[in-house]
Amino acid sequence: MKIKVKDIEEKGSIHLSYSEEPASLGLDDDTVNCLSSVSVDVHLNRTRNGVYAAGRVWATVGLSCSRCLERFPYRIDEEFYLEYRPRPAELPAETELDEEAVGIIFFDGAEIDLSDQMRQDVLLALPMKPVCNESCKGLCPVCGGNLNEVQCDCSSTVIDSPFSRLRGLRLE
Ligand SMILES: [Zn+2]
Ligand SMILES: [Zn+2]
Repeated sequence: MKIKVKDIEEKGSIHLSYSEEPASLGLDDDTVNCLSSVSVDVHLNRTRNGVYAAGRVWATVGLSCSRCLERFPYRIDEEFYLEYRPRPAELPAETELDEEAVGIIFFDGAEIDLSDQMRQDVLLALPMKPVCNESCKGLCPVCGGNLNEVQCDCSSTVIDSPFSRLRGLRLE
C-alpha cells in the first residue's frame, strides 16, 4: 500500500486498517506459507521532515514443527515504529540498510510504501525453531513415530540395555 505524504499532511495524521494478499507483498510459497492475508493497522503522522508510522502487522502462516515435523498454523502479531525521512541528496544509497536498523527508512518522492515493512515484519517474526506446542514430544529417535499420537515400545527397549541390566544387579 502506497500512501501519499500530501494526504497525511492535509489531515495531520491518518489511521489506516487494511489487508493485503501475501503475493502482492512478495510473500509466495517459496518464502513462507501464508494461510491468511496480511493485515496492518497503522497511524501515520506528519513530522517536520517526514512521516512517523506506528502500527501492528498480523497474519497466520503455516509452519513445520521442528520436533514432530507436523504442519501447524502460527499467528504472527508484530508492532512496529518507524520514521520515513526524505533521502538526503548527499547520502549514498548503501547506507540505507544501517538506517533501517534503527527504524529510519528513507524514501524518495511524494509517497511512502508500507508493503516492504509488512513483508519484513512477517519474515522476521518467523521462529528459528518452530514448535507446534511447547509440550510437543517430537518423534521417537528409534522408530520415527510421532510420540504425540503413538506410544511405541522403543523406550522400554532402550531401558533394557546391558547397562541398565548391570544397574539392576544387587551386590551380595
Ligand atoms: Zn510438534
Ligand atoms: Zn519408537
